[in-house]
Amino acid sequence: MFDPECIFCKLIAGDIPSQRVYEDDACIVFLDIAPVSKGHALVVPKAHHATLFDLPDDLGAALVPVFKRVGKAVMAATGAEGLNVCMNNYRVAGQLVDHAHVHLIPRFADDGLKFWPQGAYADNEMAAVAQAVRDAL
Ligand code: 5GP
Ligand code: ZN
Repeated sequence: MFDPECIFCKLIAGDIPSQRVYEDDACIVFLDIAPVSKGHALVVPKAHHATLFDLPDDLGAALVPVFKRVGKAVMAATGAEGLNVCMNNYRVAGQLVDHAHVHLIPRFADDGLKFWPQGAYADNEMAAVAQAVRDAL
């Protein structure tokens, strides 16, 4: 599964240069060209799937040890005290590259980052939303 229009497929094929830090049969990891903080890395399955919801479960499962191994290495290399592991799915959630990938973002006590503002539920709204999610499963 290679999409000739996809920038990450081209990067995996080596047609576009990148700073690779890890590779196995299922995925590669390279540094994000526009890092949230230095060492920000992207875990990218080699096969082209657009979003989390398109990823085969066994491929998704194969990524978890990579998050842990490379995430630890990124923290050790950068001196980070924490790590955000996150994934944007679809445009409204910030996905710009339609080849599923997971961000490893080193975090520091004084980095001033606040990933998202939080709100509140109206009376009974939380229970209704929870019920709607349960109904959708
Ligand atoms: P998204 O917003 O889709 O979750 O994240 C896409 C990420 O890919 C962005 O953080 C962006 O900086 C990174 N990116 C886009 N093009 C390139 C590239 O050619 N090389 C590298 N190393 N990163 C890229
Ligand atoms: Zn692709």
